[in-house]
Amino acid sequence: MTLSLSPRINEFVHSVLGETALLGRLVEALGSPLDIVLPEQAGRNVAAFRAVHAEHRLGGRIYFAHKANRSSALVRELAAGDAGIDVASLGELQHALGAGFTPDRIVATGPKNAAFLWLCARTSVLVHVDSAAEVAELGELVRARGLPPVRILLRLSEFAAPGVRTAARRSRFGVSPDGLESILDLAGKYAGHLEPVGVGFHLDTTALPEKAVALEGCLTALETCRRRGLRPWAIDAGGGFGVSYLADPAEWDDYTSALTEAVLGRRAPLTWNGHGYGLRNEGGTIGGSLGLYPAYRQVTGPAYLDQLLRTRAPGLGRPLGELLLDSMVDLHVEPGRALLDQCGLVLAKVLEVRDDPGGLIVRLDCNAGDVSTENHGVLMDPVAIPQREGPAEGAYLFGNLCLESDLITRRKVFLRGRPRAGDLLAFVNTAGYFMDFGATEALRQPIARKVALFRSDDAWQWCLDDQYWPLHRETA
Ligand SMILES: *Cc1c(COP(=O)(O)O)cnc(C)c1O
Repeated sequence: MTLSLSPRINEFVHSVLGETALLGRLVEALGSPLDIVLPEQAGRNVAAFRAVHAEHRLGGRIYFAHKANRSSALVRELAAGDAGIDVASLGELQHALGAGFTPDRIVATGPKNAAFLWLCARTSVLVHVDSAAEVAELGELVRARGLPPVRILLRLSEFAAPGVRTAARRSRFGVSPDGLESILDLAGKYAGHLEPVGVGFHLDTTALPEKAVALEGCLTALETCRRRGLRPWAIDAGGGFGVSYLADPAEWDDYTSALTEAVLGRRAPLTWNGHGYGLRNEGGTIGGSLGLYPAYRQVTGPAYLDQLLRTRAPGLGRPLGELLLDSMVDLHVEPGRALLDQCGLVLAKVLEVRDDPGGLIVRLDCNAGDVSTENHGVLMDPVAIPQREGPAEGAYLFGNLCLESDLITRRKVFLRGRPRAGDLLAFVNTAGYFMDFGATEALRQPIARKVALFRSDDAWQWCLDDQYWPLHRETA
């Protein structure tokens, strides 16, 4: 039995994969691994989020969370449209400004050093502040240097559900709603320098109920701000809308059931050295828990936002979208992964194919930092280029580092037909976090070059990522 995890591929990516000669030439010229980004698709993804806002008659920005990919092409393409950008470092802020984002379309999140805060203040970007210490540091900076007032969003975390006594999930970011009054007191000391415009959160979870609690918590927090005479107008719901990576829910169910069986020793191992992805055999019963991203998900991205807005607030009982509309606040979102759905792939060259008692071994000219799906808990099969004929064979994918742990997949992948040295494997849907987030120059192995691929004059065009400017599109 083959246990495929076929990736979800849209028509656009499908047509990219069909350009086998072009892809082969690109890898010949620019080396393996090679990152391909598809800027046009990012624009379409923004439009899909925008449509949800329109449906719920809400204002607010779709801020792309830059940290998901280092690409210039993607950021410049988004700068050409109506998206905003969420920057989480000094370098990302500089990059966004240089790509054409004006400060009114930028929000700064995450941990910040003095230089990052200074450039935020100097350019008047919105700052999503993380803690009381950051409020004080920013306030002092603005006052001491005579900078223009800075708009701030207060990041909240550890929301408690109504009637639930259990402690909320701990976060290293944000202040609990209980600490809101005191942080507003502090911000008040910098009146004229700091202008609180709203509150926000970012929860790294797929759980909708948790986000509904947080969103309602923000509405309550805005009431607190208003009682104190402030005029807040925005809630930032962060990112975490998710992506569904697999085409077929049945494959995901079959795989996870088979993995459980294999961990219990009831079938042949499905993983290198019996790795259990968090599951353990505890004397014949399963222990631990599956430490994987749910690779097949029913509701993700814009549809997840829509569902959140249709969810009834756990305390107030009305749909969150209606409550936001009635209170006339803008809803900002900061999707990273979801805005990069179907926006890129990594190509890697097959160096060697050999038989091993446990299955086929396919050694690739890339490493687990170049295709970090496994590190992020996402399991999906690569696409072979060209597609060879023949029965499916289970294969482990080895990387190019001199390191036992450098496997691109610890899971046996079932490739249809046996690849040959010189073939390519395409790891699709890797633009969000899996392409360059963990890439290193360990062993002086090269970091992948990045290429932007786009349609122009009814043909595929490409250029180095750094050379891409959104000029090829027809002017309106
Ligand atoms: C990482 C991050 C995001 C993006 O998260 P995704 O899961 O990629 O959508 C948004 N906001 C903040 C503050 C983040 O840290």
